[in-house]
Amino acid sequence: MAAVEDIRKRLEGLGLEGVKEHNEVKGGEEWRKEVGEGVFSKTLLFKPKTAKTAVPTPVLVIAKDDTETSAAAIGKLLNLKELRVASEDLMKEVMPGVQSKDDLSILLLPAPLAPTLHVLIDEALVSSSAPIAIHGSSSASTVFLAGAQIKSFLESLQDAQTNAAEGAVAQIRVVDFTAMKKDEVAEKPAGAAASKEAKEAAAQKKKDGKKEDAYEMAVAYTKEGDFPGWYSDVLIKGDMLDYYDVSGCYILKPWSYSVWQAIQNWFDSEIKKLGVDDCYFPMFVSSARLEREKDHIEGFAPEVAWVTKAGSKDLDEPIAIRPTSETVMYPYYAKWIRSHRDLPLKLNQWNSVVRWEFKNPQPFLRTREFLWQEGHTAFLTEEEAGKEVRQILDLYRRVYEDLLAVPVIPGVKSEKEKFAGGYYTTTVEGYIPTTGRGIQGATSHCLGQNFSKMFDITVEDPRNPGQKAHVWQNSWGLSTRSIGVMVMIHGDDQGLVMPPRVAHVQVVVVPVGLTAKLSEEERKQIYDTCDKVAADLNGAGIRTKADLREGYTPGWKFNDWELRGVPVRLEVGPRDIAAGEVKAIRRHNNAKSQMAMADLAQSMPKVLDEIHDAMFAKAKTAFDDHLYKIDKWEQVVPALDSKNVLILPWCEAEDCEDDIKDRSAKQATEGQVVDEKAPSAGAKSLCIPFDQDRFGKLEPGTKCIGCGADAKRWTMFGRSY
Ligand SMILES: [Zn+2]
Repeated sequence: MAAVEDIRKRLEGLGLEGVKEHNEVKGGEEWRKEVGEGVFSKTLLFKPKTAKTAVPTPVLVIAKDDTETSAAAIGKLLNLKELRVASEDLMKEVMPGVQSKDDLSILLLPAPLAPTLHVLIDEALVSSSAPIAIHGSSSASTVFLAGAQIKSFLESLQDAQTNAAEGAVAQIRVVDFTAMKKDEVAEKPAGAAASKEAKEAAAQKKKDGKKEDAYEMAVAYTKEGDFPGWYSDVLIKGDMLDYYDVSGCYILKPWSYSVWQAIQNWFDSEIKKLGVDDCYFPMFVSSARLEREKDHIEGFAPEVAWVTKAGSKDLDEPIAIRPTSETVMYPYYAKWIRSHRDLPLKLNQWNSVVRWEFKNPQPFLRTREFLWQEGHTAFLTEEEAGKEVRQILDLYRRVYEDLLAVPVIPGVKSEKEKFAGGYYTTTVEGYIPTTGRGIQGATSHCLGQNFSKMFDITVEDPRNPGQKAHVWQNSWGLSTRSIGVMVMIHGDDQGLVMPPRVAHVQVVVVPVGLTAKLSEEERKQIYDTCDKVAADLNGAGIRTKADLREGYTPGWKFNDWELRGVPVRLEVGPRDIAAGEVKAIRRHNNAKSQMAMADLAQSMPKVLDEIHDAMFAKAKTAFDDHLYKIDKWEQVVPALDSKNVLILPWCEAEDCEDDIKDRSAKQATEGQVVDEKAPSAGAKSLCIPFDQDRFGKLEPGTKCIGCGADAKRWTMFGRSY
């Protein structure tokens, strides 16, 4: 029985004073009467339908009391059948001391947690800044905890379990129930059934070749069956990121940050060749500066975060955190550019920016703070500026294609989609095959003379002595979103699949065949050989790690590195050593081969290049196969529903773009519940590709598919992120 004393100890561990005692309460209304207004939680326990003899796998949910927590949606999320409210017996088993469902409290959970338990925490709780009421030892007591404390408390129970038993651990997840409910409505039951079969097959496959416990680490969702669940699970289990207690912000762990560094290193060396220098401007912007360019600020205003207080004192004037740095930097460009001899000015900074979005946050793709580089350059002429816009865009294309093995289509944005306050915007656009949505990769803007007029950045015009000329400006940015695109495109049901050129570890060496029969000397020989193979490869510039961790089976290690997506695994066992070989397994296609140990340093770079090329080719085929050229409106929505990106003859009028978006959204959502927070179902323009020829000649007189006016160019439309 969990005594009140134990609860007090736990609360002390959380740095809190004791428990508020009151009358027993049934439900939220009675509870509010006892403790007053505030944010209240609810704690629920479900049980899926399982065979009588099977170990029950209960699901504990802690949510804000007004969050809708549908058992059907939770069941679907976790791939569990017919979730029901658990019996009192099971409640007592999961939380000793509980008398009825009104008493359920996370503070009663024993440590360590049972490995069969699923714990779901409502995202709305974790992101709540107000203290949240939860029960203490029964419904006759209340304590207030911050959302982050609830999460860390549950994780501490999980940690206790990890320490107690290596392998199986209870699954704790933060869940956006609102978004989940939408998925349930939108997805067909047939898809769910298929995904379950796929998952069972995957589980079976894992069990065939690997240790039982390996399965517990595996990705819990299939990519096709539950893409959002798959994506977040892969990022966590692949060790790329962790959640944070400010909603929409995430921690980039070394496994993802190293990808960013690989991009940084390459891009930095390329822009240095173009004469770009790095600098750093402050993250704070005064409101006067920020609001100087009207169109620009209108584009960003709803997402700007403001600092209003220092300690408990209100600031005289709120200060904004940069959503981008045009207005931060350009007053100084006006000061620094005195003569045409100061041109071109080419500066870049690697920094983070904040855009306080309220749409569903998604790791890497939509986060409130993200890392990027922003380049800001100034030229004397439009021609020079235009040339650089395209040079930078081509570097962005190469980041995606040559480093991340992600195909993109370069083009120019429509007037509606261009950068706020800019002249024109060029972009590289990618495609996520699983959802059929386009995704913007990076943008290179020509700002024209708009900002130079606003900030008075002028030089004496060498072409017209005595005359002033406003400079031509560009800005260009590439962000950590690129990492999310890479994961979405290459990852599979076993986890991440890292493109070799950015993988933190390109080759992992695992000792195998370590049976009990081996002598100590034979064991040592295997370990030493692994070390030597790794040293040789590292010496040849290939990032290699020998996994000599004790206490883990080879199967466990295989699974661990598969989750993290290491491109090549080398296995070294007694037989391999005798033959002077290693066994190589490629992550992206599971192909196995024997490689001669002696010349790995020469052969491995070729293997890594082959892997890169094969990953790129696969993604390119998926993109090309879903570029759908159409000429009748009736084809638009069916083509979108078949996960295509459309190539349309288009007039390029802004009204027409709005109309295409509205009409395609309406038709797509007829008979469905629309979630305001979800990405739109309507098609917007992604870009007007520079390479028009690949789509064939646009015959004169071809009409716009949206409005019937004369079409100007082939334009890529699609649902997007
Ligand atoms: Zn039109």
